[in-house]
Amino acid sequence: MKILVINCGSSSLKYQLIDMSNEGALAQGLVERIGIEGSILTQKVNGEKYIIEEPMKDHTDAIRLVLGALVDKEHGVISDMSEISSVGHRVVHGGEKYANSVLIDDEVMKSLEDCIKLAPLHNPPNIIGINACKALMPNTPMVAVFDTAFHQTIPEYAYLYALPYELYKNYGIRKYGFHGTSHRYVSNVASEMMGKNIEDLKIVTCHLGNGASICAVDGGKSVETSMGFTPLEGVAMGTRSGNVDPAIITFLMKELNLGIDEINNLLNKKSGVYGISGVSSDFRDIEEAAESGNHRAELALDVFHYKVKRFIGSYAAAMGGMDCLVFTAGLGENSALSRSEICKNLEFLGIKIDEKKNSEGRGFAKEISTPDSSVKVYVIPTNEELMIARDTKEIVEDK
Ligand code: AMP
Repeated sequence: MKILVINCGSSSLKYQLIDMSNEGALAQGLVERIGIEGSILTQKVNGEKYIIEEPMKDHTDAIRLVLGALVDKEHGVISDMSEISSVGHRVVHGGEKYANSVLIDDEVMKSLEDCIKLAPLHNPPNIIGINACKALMPNTPMVAVFDTAFHQTIPEYAYLYALPYELYKNYGIRKYGFHGTSHRYVSNVASEMMGKNIEDLKIVTCHLGNGASICAVDGGKSVETSMGFTPLEGVAMGTRSGNVDPAIITFLMKELNLGIDEINNLLNKKSGVYGISGVSSDFRDIEEAAESGNHRAELALDVFHYKVKRFIGSYAAAMGGMDCLVFTAGLGENSALSRSEICKNLEFLGIKIDEKKNSEGRGFAKEISTPDSSVKVYVIPTNEELMIARDTKEIVEDK
């Protein structure tokens, strides 16, 4: 069984074709600049690149080229499109309706449309991607896998904001949480690495990339997460502010005479470690600048590490303890410095890392805690595509 996994953005599209017999990626690719001049598709098969530079006016053009690249005689990995048994789509927002992945039908499409108001930037390209695939592969079953679904187990007292209750009832104002597929994947791998049943574990997962979120996974269920109504809440990120005093927003709007789009832009694109450092949103650049003595770069890293550390402590409190801490995503998987700084002074929680293990090797799952650390600490490469493919397989086989 071969499953195509699609992650559609507004002008880009990532894909993988996964062979479920061994859960390996046969091909992975990225299409960029869809609908803009300079459209380009890059497909990788066994490390070898195949590049197509061709105008793509929309996502249907892009997906047509993806399918063409997959069946290409020289560079492809399948001989016919019919080998693709089903398609799994990453969808950012499923609202309160979807606590699990779902087979896409007309009713689901309608619900996705209803969720646009909750994720105006993300859900529209996801819907466009699904429609484009449906147009080209009308008889292939498709599954939607939501970023929010895993967090639907967060209890009411944790997802409600202390705002007038009617705002929740009338407008759906509540914590939804994101990166759910990643938190679910790495928490499951962590339980396997511990050789324990996930139902018996309290795990804190840190998805630290350009977007960052922390999740408390108790007994295999998300019970708290740092992103909220939107992915802006939580820790400081590449360019997102994370938590700020909400009064700062009205203060700035008044003082700087900012409109809604401008304040949104400031909080989402000009803040975070980029805003503090003034260097870059990429942690590699900031680490480099900090090493050469740039104070604002050092400060940006300090702020980031401190905020992540506080979330870890508060999630241990929320769960009444923790057995395991996981680092994943671009920064979490690659930055020994960040892991070390975040874990510093958390010995009182039973977290002790071995600096040698922490700094050695990357690209594979590893334990970095000392033998006497009562909390196991792991670095686990995330694999959202595989999780999407697994859900797709399960749902399609069940139907
Ligand atoms: P992601 O959003 O998961 O793709 O993560 C992207 C971010 O990971 C980049 O913006 C970098 O800041 C960070 N990153 C990737 N590799 C490294 C590394 N070797 N050291 C520090 N940060 C890294």
